[in-house]
Amino acid sequence: MSLKRVMTTAVAMLGALALAGAASLILLTTYLHRTTESMGNAVEGVRVAEALQVDLLMLHRPPDTISQLTSGNPRSREDLEAALRSHLDEARRNAWSPQEQALLKEAERTISDYFLARPNVSHLSPEQAGQELGPRVETALAALDALVTFNVNEARTIQLQADRWDRLANLGGICVAVLLVLGGGALLWWLRHSVFRPLLEMSRAMRRFGGGRKRTRAPESGPVELRDMARTFNEMANSLARQQEEQLTFLAGVAHDLRNPLSALKMSAALVTSGRPIPEERMQKTMALVRRQVARLDRMVGDLLDATRIEAGRFELSLEERDARELATAVVELYLAGGSSHDLRLHLPEEPVLLSCDATRVEQVLHNLVSNALKYSQGGSRVDVIVGREGEEAVLSVVDRGIGISTEELRLLFAPFRRTGRAREKAPGVGLGLSVARRIVEAHGGRIEVESRPGVGSTFRVRLPRAHAAAQPAVVSSPADTVH
Ligand code: ADP
Repeated sequence: MSLKRVMTTAVAMLGALALAGAASLILLTTYLHRTTESMGNAVEGVRVAEALQVDLLMLHRPPDTISQLTSGNPRSREDLEAALRSHLDEARRNAWSPQEQALLKEAERTISDYFLARPNVSHLSPEQAGQELGPRVETALAALDALVTFNVNEARTIQLQADRWDRLANLGGICVAVLLVLGGGALLWWLRHSVFRPLLEMSRAMRRFGGGRKRTRAPESGPVELRDMARTFNEMANSLARQQEEQLTFLAGVAHDLRNPLSALKMSAALVTSGRPIPEERMQKTMALVRRQVARLDRMVGDLLDATRIEAGRFELSLEERDARELATAVVELYLAGGSSHDLRLHLPEEPVLLSCDATRVEQVLHNLVSNALKYSQGGSRVDVIVGREGEEAVLSVVDRGIGISTEELRLLFAPFRRTGRAREKAPGVGLGLSVARRIVEAHGGRIEVESRPGVGSTFRVRLPRAHAAAQPAVVSSPADTVH
């Protein structure tokens, strides 16, 4: 489960709930506004219909009783007729529904019947006229009663509807509130259990690790993002632990490898300073041993220094044009002069193979490859150093028939401090030579290739751009990004 997805879903759901609540609130207030309006209309309808009834009754009375009835505010028949007309206008404006309009029309018709009949009874006495017009007034009053009843019923229906909506709104409000509280609660619970707890455990693990307990690892639990974070931390912790282990192994290896030549030197020094006469031949052998051990120490210290410089990004080349044949010859001759027990052979083309290179560094690479070929193969076995050309490249190969390297070990061969299992048994070494060699070759714009089969032998091939085709960088960058 991803934190992002959960948070997005939860926020979307709570937002939708809040929106639904707000929308229903707006709908409800709109509805209540309409209800109030309809209720007002119904009440107004009742009031106007009753006013019309009063107007009619007043007009139906004999003229002299009208002034008695309206004594507080004396009104003439004309005033009353005008009031009736005005009330009729009001009633027309107020009647919205077709049903109410029909009822009003009926009331208007009966009122108009009454007024049309009035001139016909003007010659009669007031009592006779009253009797004559009585049924018409009754009909008009009944029609107005129907209007009143309609509006009263309308008002009741509206009130019932409003009550229903009120109950519904209360229920809806409670539901939304409960859902919001439950949703918020569920989100908080989930955050506490699935986010805060793993985060706390991770921070505890980090503190413990920082405090020196290097075996501490963060639990990989919770949402994807936190699991990734914990995994990254654990990988980092593993890598740090591995690095520390490698550094310790390296230090142990360096100490061990320094000790061998040092004890040889110590023994030689003891022999020379013992005061006893030493035969010339023995002396020569001892001095040769001293030279070899010093050269070995020099190489080891040189490799260590180069590796440190490469790590720090301070490794410079001084380029010059040189023939690869000369460089290879110089290296091979040095080993031949040192009395190598191997069958070391040099193969050179007839034409020069020009390189724009740092000669000392290229020789260092060849030294490393030849020395490895000799170290990791039987004395007396053949080792070939071949200089050639392939297209725009110069190819310097060192071929041995030694212990070889397994496919698995080949993958990490150029990583610093890597040594194959069989090599450790066979010869001392730090495991830096090849990584330094690779950086030197890459700094020249070239590459090192290796082919090897365990028990059969290895071929290391250095490919460098030939002088006219070379465009090499002069400074080696830090190998932090190196993948072997
Ligand atoms: P070192 O030789 O000092 O250990 P290198 O970096 O030169 O360091 O070599 C790294 C490892 O590569 C060696 O320890 C060995 O295991 C392996 N290796 C290098 N060259 C050969 C070779 N010619 N034959 C077999 N193994 C080799």
